[in-house]
Amino acid sequence: MKQRLALLGSTGSIGKQTLDIVRRRPDEFEITTLTAGSRWESLVEQALEFKPDSVVIANEQHYNAVKEALSKEPIKVYAGSDALSQVVTGGEVDTVVNALVGYAGMLPSLAAVRASKRLALANKESLVVAGEHIMREAAERGVPILPIDSEHSAIFQCLAGEASAPRRVIVTASGGPFLRTPAEELERVTVAQALAHPNWSMGAKITIDSSTLVNKGFEVIEARWLFGLKPEQIDVLVHPQSIVHSMVEFEDGAIKAQLGTPDMHLPIQYALRFPERGELGEERLDFMKNPTLTFEPVDNERFPLLQTAYDCLRKGGNSCCVMNGANEVAVAAFLSGEIKYTDIARVILGTLERAQFVATPTIEDYAASNLESRRIAREIIQH
Ligand code: NAD
Ligand code: MG
Repeated sequence: MKQRLALLGSTGSIGKQTLDIVRRRPDEFEITTLTAGSRWESLVEQALEFKPDSVVIANEQHYNAVKEALSKEPIKVYAGSDALSQVVTGGEVDTVVNALVGYAGMLPSLAAVRASKRLALANKESLVVAGEHIMREAAERGVPILPIDSEHSAIFQCLAGEASAPRRVIVTASGGPFLRTPAEELERVTVAQALAHPNWSMGAKITIDSSTLVNKGFEVIEARWLFGLKPEQIDVLVHPQSIVHSMVEFEDGAIKAQLGTPDMHLPIQYALRFPERGELGEERLDFMKNPTLTFEPVDNERFPLLQTAYDCLRKGGNSCCVMNGANEVAVAAFLSGEIKYTDIARVILGTLERAQFVATPTIEDYAASNLESRRIAREIIQH
């Protein structure tokens, strides 16, 4: 039997690489649902190639265009963000691949878990916002959550076959394009400079998040929930070569690492085929081309937002949700030229100060908190 995938965010960077895997293994996988935010033409093209049962275009403005383009196909067309949570629950879905970006991915992750679907998770914001709820609901139902994020896939791979709990994990960070940029120059960083990640080609939002180390902060939060760790068991080390994707240290001092070229196809395929590996056909790591692997601490003065993420994690409640909402607004404002690069931190810290703290939030509280943090972030930007 083929594994039937609902692929959310199929037109994005992770989405397209997931389709590469499916294209190479037509006997193993079939696509039952594809979804896109606004890029309706790519969605239609993908639908004509993969023949899913349904597609969702989240931006309702493009519903008619998609409907028209697929009118000769037996493919159901839905629009709007609620449809994302509905298509994942269908009986014809085995695995939900969540490659959405931002808060928009959280409710579909929750819906997948509640419908007892295996969740292959790239959308780290799901766990940043509602990690406690999602992990608890998954545990109650015995639903596996398989990480796609490369660091978490590395940790997951290092933990495979181990009966002992890890003592700590070391999440590696490339350091991004501004690793060596002096503090006083960060203010003048341009969008093009921030979008030029040295090692990975990714969507715009995560590329900016990587440059500010917000992404690393979110990955610490993600690791906390995926692997049931305390914040103090999660360390971050800068490793500019992005060859060691992360490490796990055990009680006896042994450290396991997963290494490879920086290529998301591997963690995507590992999540989809777990516990089996398979030929991938991508470039292999050649140590002689990468003879030097280096490690250094994070400069928390120039990159304060990693510590902000730790602070939010320790404070708990809705703090991480607030940080995420403020970050989404700040990154969008930076990308559209509204604010300076260094204002991203100012907007996030200002929003965290002003947003209402909710100690034990429900999912509805997260929704409200997300809206409130976005509103406050916009106010800070406009004043
Ligand atoms: P992307 O921007 O390239 O793609 C996002 C996808 O989601 C697109 O299909 C887009 O149409 C859709 N989308 C965006 N906003 C939406 C909305 N409001 N409603 C519905 N659909 C929407 O992003 P990406 O780089 O593929 O990243 C996806 C997720 O994977 C993010 O959470 C990111 O942090 C994580 N991730 C990405 C990489 C990578 O290499 N790209 C690596 C690790 C983790
Ligand atoms: Mg990552």
